[in-house]
Amino acid sequence: MSQIDQYKKDIKGYSAKNADEVEAFRIKYLGTKGIVKNVMGEMRNVPNENKKEFGLILNAFKIAAEERYEVLKEQLSSSEETAATNIDWSLPGDPMPVGTRHPLSIVRNQMVSIFKRLGFAVAEGPEMEDDWHNFTALNLPENHPARDMQDTFYLNQNPDYLLRTHTSSVQARIMEKQKPPIRIVCPGRVYRNETISARAHCFFHQVEGLYVDENVSFADLKQTLYFFVQEMFGKGVKVRFRPSYFPFTEPSAEMDISCTVCGGTGCSLCKHTGWVEILGCGMVHPKLLENFKIDSNKYTGFAFGMGVERICQLKFRVNDLRLYSQNDIRFLRQFTGAV
Ligand SMILES: [Zn+2]
Repeated sequence: MSQIDQYKKDIKGYSAKNADEVEAFRIKYLGTKGIVKNVMGEMRNVPNENKKEFGLILNAFKIAAEERYEVLKEQLSSSEETAATNIDWSLPGDPMPVGTRHPLSIVRNQMVSIFKRLGFAVAEGPEMEDDWHNFTALNLPENHPARDMQDTFYLNQNPDYLLRTHTSSVQARIMEKQKPPIRIVCPGRVYRNETISARAHCFFHQVEGLYVDENVSFADLKQTLYFFVQEMFGKGVKVRFRPSYFPFTEPSAEMDISCTVCGGTGCSLCKHTGWVEILGCGMVHPKLLENFKIDSNKYTGFAFGMGVERICQLKFRVNDLRLYSQNDIRFLRQFTGAV
């Protein structure tokens, strides 16, 4: 009994300066090996006739410990509140630097939003691709010479898994599971096994488009791309198409725009021709449609693809591809407020 009285005095006099000391109190008195549990265990040594009386005392002791614990917690939280209200709100804040959007993101977003206004939906796919979606399904069978132009990084060979060389693989994936009408743009990062220089990089970004439906013609292709150029580079920018070759389109063309720097009179950017190439395009090869079980007698389509870096170069006059991935803040800061 005298021991319990001593404990009660200790409990009453216990004060805690911080959360650790409150926790120490809990462990000491209320923990699974604490004093309260320990004293409770003494019950078995008490003669039967005294059990009731002793039980009441023990219970009172237990309640005293629990109440003290609640009081200590209360005191602690109110002292923390006092500390919080001691902050001087009139002090000037710490300056927080605001980041900027990456120029490639700015341009990609603009490109996508222009096509969205024409009813194109955004489609995305994996950067790690298999041979079928990246090459074979797109009319680039094994040993096709055009594959040499798109050497990439293989993750595995036979069966081939690789880093996609173009976002056309997303077009393949969409045609595989969706029936016409299909009207999509595919923005994304692509890879090539190239030596890094000012004009080439081992990765870059593309925005490709695909439109498959009944009666889609080359006139639709021209008008769509003409609209894009007018929105992207301003009214009055001219376009021209040159015949070209891609395995996945027939006929194929490359599109130039009148030089945005000199306006067509000739400068170093356009190599004094007045024109700069911005994209490749064409009518979807019937074999591709058949690869995806789309009836090529009923449906036709057009596709185009362009590099985001190229458009960015023309818009912002960035003349070294390496700048995009060097994370040099002096470069990135120049795009503050560009959108
Ligand atoms: Zn020029």
